Parts: sequence; C-alpha cells; structure tokens
Amino acid sequence: MNAHSPIQAEVAADPLAKLREPFPDHQISKLPKETKQQADQRKADMKTGIKCHVCGGWHHRNAVHLDYVGHAALTDRLLDTDPLWSWEPVAFAQNGLPAFDNNGGLWIKLTVCGVTRLGYGNADGKSGGDAIKEIIGDALRNAAMRFGAALDLWHKGDLHGPDEPGEALPSAEETAINMLRAVAVDKVTFTDAWAKNKAGWKELLEPEAYARVVAAMKECAADIAAREAEEKAKANAEGGFGIPDDEIPF
Ligand SMILES: [Zn+2]
Repeated sequence: MNAHSPIQAEVAADPLAKLREPFPDHQISKLPKETKQQADQRKADMKTGIKCHVCGGWHHRNAVHLDYVGHAALTDRLLDTDPLWSWEPVAFAQNGLPAFDNNGGLWIKLTVCGVTRLGYGNADGKSGGDAIKEIIGDALRNAAMRFGAALDLWHKGDLHGPDEPGEALPSAEETAINMLRAVAVDKVTFTDAWAKNKAGWKELLEPEAYARVVAAMKECAADIAAREAEEKAKANAEGGFGIPDDEIPF
C-alpha cells in the first residue's frame, strides 16, 4: 500500500540512506551512567561525586558515559531526510491521548519517506511532564534506529539498558507481537491495527515467524472477545434501562 512509489524511486535510489549516515561529533551527547553502587555511594558521601567536565552533570567520579544522539540532532536528521516525516502513537486511550502500555511505555509509528516502522520508548519509572517528553524522545530514537539512524552508537549500549551489554534488539516478530498485545484494548482498535500492519508483516517476516504473529493475533482476539462478552453479561445482569439486548452476540 505504502511501498515505494515509482516517483520516489526516480528521485533517489534510497532516500532513507541519509538516516544511516554517521552523526558528526558535535551532535553526539554524553549520558553519564552510574552503577547502583556508585549512586548509593555518592548519596552517602558527597565527596565521591564530581561536577563533570565531560557532560556538565553531577555524578559519581567513576561513572561511565554513553554516547547518544539527542532529540534536536535526531529531529534535524529526520527533517533533512524527509521534511514531511511524522510519528503517531500506535494506540489512543479513551480520553483521546496516546495510550501507554502497562509498563508506562509508549509504542509509536515513525513514518519517513512513506515507510513506517515501529518504535518503543520508556523513561525508567520516572513520571510527570518531563518523563512524557523523555518517553517520546526515546521512542523516536528507538524507531529511527530501525531505519539505521545512529546504529553505530546504539550497538555500544542502549540508553536504558546499559546493564545488559550485548542485549539483542527485539526481532521484527517480537516487535509485531508486542505491538499486537499493546493494542488489544478493544475490537475496533485491534482490528484497525491488524488491518494496517498485516500486509507489511507478511512481507517482512519469514513464513514461520508470520505464522507465530498470526497465532498471537488470534490469542489476543480471543482475549478481547472473552473480555467484552464478560462486560456485556455484567451490563445485562445490571438490567440497563429495560431495553432488550438485540445486538448480534459477538
Ligand atoms: Zn559526566
């Protein structure tokens, strides 16, 4: 549906290649990362902390730094690649705002040059407005990585998972299944998400992997149907307004 159109193909062989170009040094920021032991030690004894000349922050003198690309630099690169780039949450909550999953994380769809890929952001248990912005920035970095942006930095350590060096990136299959679980909130949201993504997944995944995604989809659908049937039975038991239930029962 949104595969490369012939017009795009004439403009550039691969317009997305721009996203994979290495970031210059001045766009790479330093994130201090203390071990839990260092953090505890610094809180107990201020003298173990330093005002760091590398990152400008206050942290344990022996903390390591991770390289990362900040939100502004990434946005700049996205705009250079495709001025019409956009992102949207995978699901919306009933109040119309982006839906967060049970871990407080956010699944997003990042669209660049007509290609859409999923990303996931979280803020490690922080809360408040700044945490929301951090989650969005993290999700954008994560989705942009799936286009190859700053991959050379990511392989050294994930911003939120440096304690597990070498942790494998989630496979496309895992990403698809996680997304399905995240949008299994109601029939409409779930049906819509499946309709939008299944062709892309079928194309992207090996047949066995796609079969596992389909199996996960059926599990989620059965859960939603069971949950909605339960809610309906409860509503009927409560009596409503005396109007007979004339809806098809599924
Ligand atoms: Zn520092």
